[in-house]
Amino acid sequence: MQSLEITNLNVSIGGQPILKDFSLNIPKGEIHALMGPNGTGKSTLAKVIAGHEDYEVTSGEILLNGESILGDEPDEISLAGLFLAFQYPLEIPGVSIANFIRAAKQARLPENESINAVEYYKELYDKMDALKIDRKFTARSLNEGFSGGEKKRCEVLQMSMLEPEYCLMDETDSGLDIDALRIVADGVNLMRSPERGFLIITHYQRLLDYIVPDVVHVMYDGKIVHSGDAELAKELETKGYDWVKDSFVSSTAQ
Ligand code: ADP
Ligand code: MG
Repeated sequence: MQSLEITNLNVSIGGQPILKDFSLNIPKGEIHALMGPNGTGKSTLAKVIAGHEDYEVTSGEILLNGESILGDEPDEISLAGLFLAFQYPLEIPGVSIANFIRAAKQARLPENESINAVEYYKELYDKMDALKIDRKFTARSLNEGFSGGEKKRCEVLQMSMLEPEYCLMDETDSGLDIDALRIVADGVNLMRSPERGFLIITHYQRLLDYIVPDVVHVMYDGKIVHSGDAELAKELETKGYDWVKDSFVSSTAQ
């Protein structure tokens, strides 16, 4: 079962239900986009999948390739093959990008193996070039003093270096100008593979002009209320989220 499968997930924060019977299945090889108005629970979903501990999971299941990851630590989930690119990447003073990624890659090797530094830097520089990240960033502290666009490109660099089986991107496009948006999209398109699944969370349709998803889901009030193909995102762009809200209210009233 090569998929990221979420079934009837209920999640609360401080007793307040946020995710309500949320279900979603992402088979490897597919890119799913999750759209929806602010405050609907998109970031909550991403953080719960990645093992963030602030949330109360009251019921449901999250399976990574058939194995439950609910209750696992974030680093265990990361080693199991899931990468979360944050909406607001953290700054880590004193830790260079090169050393940070190297430590993360080292953690993925068997205990008696160590990274070949020459090969590592070759791969790092190749991927930095592909993502148009200046090599002077190699030695800079992670995200410290980076612009919004630089942080997002750096997230995509980490993602491409770690080669996860499942990539979760939480509004990686927010605050990006069109050039940075294209770079992020190019990075994702390069990583697109039958061996990898993506969940791309975005508030706007713009990113989906460059990354064409296999499936688009619309989330409202803690659950998915519509799913469709890439055209659904375009429909949302013209009709707005009120359209979803209204159709959701009328469908639940029936
Ligand atoms: P989205 O990403 O769709 O904008 P979020 O998942 O960030 O939505 O938020 C969903 C709801 O959960 C919002 O009402 C938000 O205020 C609330 N929420 C999210 N995180 C927390 C938190 N750590 N503490 C309290 N409430 C939170
Ligand atoms: Mg969010």
